Amino acid sequence: MKIGFIGLGIMGKPMAKNLVKAGYDVIVADKFAPKAVEEVVAVGAKAGASNMDVGSQVDILITMVPNSPNVKEALFGEDGAAKTLKKGAIVLDCSSINPIASREICAELDKMGIEMLDAPVSGGEPKAIDGTLAFMVGGKPEIFDKCKDILDKMGSSVVLCGSIGAGNVTKLCNQICVAINIAGLAEAMMLGQLAGVEPEKIFDAIKGGLAGSTVMNAKAPMMMDQNFKPGFRIDLHIKDLNNVVDAAKAVDSPIPLTQSVLEMMKILHRDGDGSCDHSALLKYYQKLTGEVLHH
Ligand code: NAD
Repeated sequence: MKIGFIGLGIMGKPMAKNLVKAGYDVIVADKFAPKAVEEVVAVGAKAGASNMDVGSQVDILITMVPNSPNVKEALFGEDGAAKTLKKGAIVLDCSSINPIASREICAELDKMGIEMLDAPVSGGEPKAIDGTLAFMVGGKPEIFDKCKDILDKMGSSVVLCGSIGAGNVTKLCNQICVAINIAGLAEAMMLGQLAGVEPEKIFDAIKGGLAGSTVMNAKAPMMMDQNFKPGFRIDLHIKDLNNVVDAAKAVDSPIPLTQSVLEMMKILHRDGDGSCDHSALLKYYQKLTGEVLHH
């Protein structure tokens, strides 16, 4: 079975490498990242000359690009891989995109006789490197069964959440929880410091209790170090929360907390912090108070 992989960024590059290491025949393309292509080819992948070239050679095509316009471009644009995919091929879109767009893309592929799963991930670069990502998947159960072994080589948790789009709905739920959790942590740490308690003590005292979380363990040390190297960029989280707004509008679901955190992230973006890790939500509170969180 031949696997195509389009999009070798922070996430796609280690994911493609793990498929090569697992013994799959992998053909890659990323016209904007030739160095990443070279790196994946160095571990045993083949370089496609273009997206269409990749499409013409593979049974399963994985896409890992920023947002829905990029997925549409990679599949249906001038150099769209879907144009050369054979009937019965499967597109496995691992990008985090609007679930409404996933359904549109799936309908377009269906007209071409091509199957699709939406399979976004949680875990970030370290888990992409370790092959321990969490996949949340939407699509037909029989197509999921055909792709499960491949997903298992890149992740330690692979859950079929429902029909097409369900993977990205679940990913939006994940992104709401992470965003609000980070904002809450930043708000709490700033209050604690202003009220005279050392942030390190607050973290040590509460991390083992009900407020403790994976987010707290990962982001509190970054905040205290003023280390906002991404990780997951504010700009990508803005993209996800904008997708939450669209998805919520479609089903009339209230999202007051998401809207608040989205506003904070937009202010940070306007101030030039869009490429910082999302733990830089702390900077919003630092700007308001003139106080810098310390250890
Ligand atoms: P990235 O910007 O590092 O990489 C995206 C890659 O896609 C780039 O190398 C770009 O050149 C390529 N690309 C874009 N359009 C293309 C096209 N038409 N043809 C070929 N290549 C194309 O992004 P990333 O951090 O790897 O994230 C990818 C997706 O995974 C996003 O949807 C993101 O929200 C999601 N995600 C990221 C993380 C994280 O921690 N970085 C975690 C979970 C999920």
